[in-house]
Parts: sequence; C-alpha cells; structure tokens
Amino acid sequence: MNEQKLIDYAKPCYDDEQVLELGHAIDFATEAHLGQKRKSGEPYIIHPLNVAHILIDWGMDIDTVLAGVLHDTVEDTDTSLDTIESLFGRNVAFLVDGVTKISKARAGMRDLDSYLPQTKDNLSKLLIAVGQDVRVIIIKLADRLHNLSTLEHMSPDKQKKIARESLDVFAPMADRLGMGRVRMQIEEIAFSYLNEKEFKRLQNEMKKRLGKSTRKLGVVRQEVEAELGKQHIKSEINGRVKSIYSLHKKLSKVDTSLDDIYDLMALRVIVDSKEDCYRVLGVLHSLYQPMLTRIKDYIAVPKPNGYQSLHTTVITPSKQIVEFQIRTYDMHEYAERGLAASFHYHEQKSSKDYSKNKKSSKLPTQMQWIVQLQEIASNLRDGVDIPLNQLNIDLFGSRIFVYSPKGDIYSLPEGALPLDFAYMIHTDIGKRAYSFRVNGNIRAFDKPLENGDIVEVITRKTSQPKPSWLELVTTTQARSKLRSQLKKMGLAEGMARGAAIIKEKALRGKGSASSSKK
Ligand code: MN
Repeated sequence: MNEQKLIDYAKPCYDDEQVLELGHAIDFATEAHLGQKRKSGEPYIIHPLNVAHILIDWGMDIDTVLAGVLHDTVEDTDTSLDTIESLFGRNVAFLVDGVTKISKARAGMRDLDSYLPQTKDNLSKLLIAVGQDVRVIIIKLADRLHNLSTLEHMSPDKQKKIARESLDVFAPMADRLGMGRVRMQIEEIAFSYLNEKEFKRLQNEMKKRLGKSTRKLGVVRQEVEAELGKQHIKSEINGRVKSIYSLHKKLSKVDTSLDDIYDLMALRVIVDSKEDCYRVLGVLHSLYQPMLTRIKDYIAVPKPNGYQSLHTTVITPSKQIVEFQIRTYDMHEYAERGLAASFHYHEQKSSKDYSKNKKSSKLPTQMQWIVQLQEIASNLRDGVDIPLNQLNIDLFGSRIFVYSPKGDIYSLPEGALPLDFAYMIHTDIGKRAYSFRVNGNIRAFDKPLENGDIVEVITRKTSQPKPSWLELVTTTQARSKLRSQLKKMGLAEGMARGAAIIKEKALRGKGSASSSKK
C-alpha cells in the first residue's frame, strides 16, 4: 500500500476535492510518522494507509477516511489536535480525538483478567463515552483488523494477548454494530493465533466434509432455483461456509460433535422484497421437509443488533440436511456491513447528510439509539445548543462516564463526587481514600466529576471514613456503604450527635446545654 494506490482506490468513491484532501492528509501523516517503523520493519505510514483503505472499502464517508489516515498522529507523534482541526476541520479532529481516547481506555482492557467480567457492559459504555460517534468505533475496528493481519511480526506472547482482546472486545463490538463480516474476519484471525492447533484441525475437518457436501448442495440449489423460477420469484442463491470460530464455539457446547452440525454450509437466498422472503420459505417447505424447531423468523423479530433474515433447516429426500437463510438485498447488505452500510457513499456523500436525512428511519428500530446519539453529536459539533432534556436518551440519561487510570470505564450520575467513584470501585478503596487526582491534578472532595475525567483514588492504610463524608457522596450505593462503615467504627452515634448539634445551632440555643451533655 502506498499513497498512489490509496488515491487510485478512492477516486471512484469521492469527488475531486475530497480526493485532493485525502492527498493532503496522506502527506501530513507521512511527514508526522517519518522515521517510525512498524514491527515488520516497514515505514509506519503503511499502517494508517491500510486502515484508510479498509474504511474506503467499507464505504465510509470522507471524514472517516481522513481520520483513518490521521488516526495515530496525535497519539504517536507530536502532532496536536489543534493542528489537525485547523488543517482538516472539526469533524475530522473530533474523530481522531475519539480514536485517541479509545487507545487510552484500551490500556485498561489489556488487563483482561480484571476486565472480562464487565466486558459487555463496558462495551456499550465505551461506545457512548467515546464522543458519541459510532464512526470512532468503526475506525478502531479497521485499525484492529489491519493490526491483526500483521500479527505475525509480534512476539508469540503479544500475539496471544492481542488475539484474546480481539475476541473479547472487538468482535463483540463489531457484532453490536451489526457488522457481521468484520466480526467474522476478526474472529477467524484471532482464533487462529489463540488456538492454532484447533484452528488447523477444524479447518482440515471442514475441508474434508465440504468437498462432499458442496456437490450434494449443488443439486439442491438447482432444484430450488428451478422452482423459484417457476413461481416467478427473482432470486440469487449463494453458498455460505461456516466460519472456523463459530464452528469451534458450537463444538464447545456440551455433547456436540461435528456430525451434529447441520450448517457447515448453508444456502443463502437473496430476493427483492420481504414478501418474497416468505414466499421462498413457502416454496422450500413445499419442496422439502422442514425441521420445525429450526425455523427462525428474524424478519418479524430481528436480532438485537438489527440482523434480519428467515432461517430454516430442511431434510431433502436423500436425507441431506440443509440450512437456508432467506433475506432481501437490503437485509443482506446490513447483515454484512451493519452500521457501516448506512454511511455508504453511493447514498451519502458526507456524514452531515447522513445525520440530517431520513435514511435513519431505515435503520432497524433496535439501532435507532445510535442515530439519536449521532444526531446529537453532530448538532454539538455544529455548535447548535441542545436543550438538556433532549440529551436524556435512556442510554446515557444524565450520566457521566469516567475512566480509571487503567482505562476502565465507570458510569456515574451527573453531579457525582470523587468519593462516589471510590466507593463504586471497591468498598475498601472508598474507606481508605486519602485524596483524588483527576486528569493528573489533585481534586477536592467536593468538586463534581465530569464526563471523560480520568480519576485516580489515592489511598492510605491509615485513612478512615469520617461522618462528614456523608455530605460528600451523592449516590445511594456510596452512602449506604459509608453508613455501614461508620456504624462498624462506632461512629454512628457520633453521626447522630453531630447532626443534632448542627440542628441545635440552627435553632439558636433553645435549651442548648442539655443535649450536648447527654
Ligand atoms: Mn493504529
């Protein structure tokens, strides 16, 4: 991959001005990364160019592609975000900033033992925390995909780590965005490094079996094609081979052997309309005997990530078991490319058009929240004032997201104080809190945290909770933990007495002496 190749690849997809700007971005990044090398020994710029190539391939808008070229400049060179903004505009700078933030957050994810239990939860938080623009995640996925494809140059130890993280964090992320093809690519490469032996074994096993079934499937396919032709249903039929990783996952379930897996190879029927999908299903069930428990209607009830299709498994007269997936071209596009499909340059030349136009209504309802987030993010970028109540989407309501120094993400209600954070991490951390460092600076106990803050709790073994802390927590969780600690320390009484004194002072000395003597 070099500059000219990338530009040639971009030319048919973007207008002249955009391609010119791409050239500028490449020149800028090349200069910034000058002298840096990849582990393979190649010049570093190879990496951002490949990431941009992937993003063009996915049909992303030009801002995302530019951000792809520039994505490592702020983190890895002395380029400032301001420079990026003045040269390439606010939108590109916003995306580069988001990618840089994820890299920081990832530092914590590397510590996978502590990270795993919350993976899923953290993913959605991450998505929101990182600038509310899903394109940031998409750039990160392209980044990961290219790094995986060059993993051979890393040490075995690092390979395993990156592979693990890819399976645990990035593949589910792609899945959440409905990007089925990317999810599969990530899983296949990662699994081949994580469990090379098993990967090779399954690959061989698969080859053996596929040889036979491909021939048999050919017959079924012709039969179906002929019948659909007779019924005047326009269709396209493809074979799809199960991925090694999904096969492995299925096999790791109790009591499953390779012979129990019917969908090593499935046939995919793609048609023009939803009505045709159901007509095809009818045709298949009239030709072959369906296995009733395996009929799934993901058109009426899409998967949570927006995936739609009809699935059915049938038994042919020659006792062959065949799985079919039936979907429209739109559904197919979505299943393969997910959210990235909505940025496609053929329909949308720029991200601005995207966030403002009606295309959003075409996204599956489950994914509407992303559109909402994007609209808000884009308004914010355009400097439009948004009434606070409009930000009250379920997903981020009035919550803020803060990072631990390791990059783990915690969600707190707006207005939360440092002690709320400490108690959220662990009861003992709250108890032993001595001081707080927020974004590197010592922070007072009574100053609310803000979205994106990196919060470090400094603990001392000798530090003890104080009754006055009750004024310095806002969450019920922190308050009840603190209360029970104070109680154990025998300070509960003190608390009550303290409160009584304050009350008394407020009442200005009516029968003053008596209560303090009690
Ligand atoms: Mn990178």
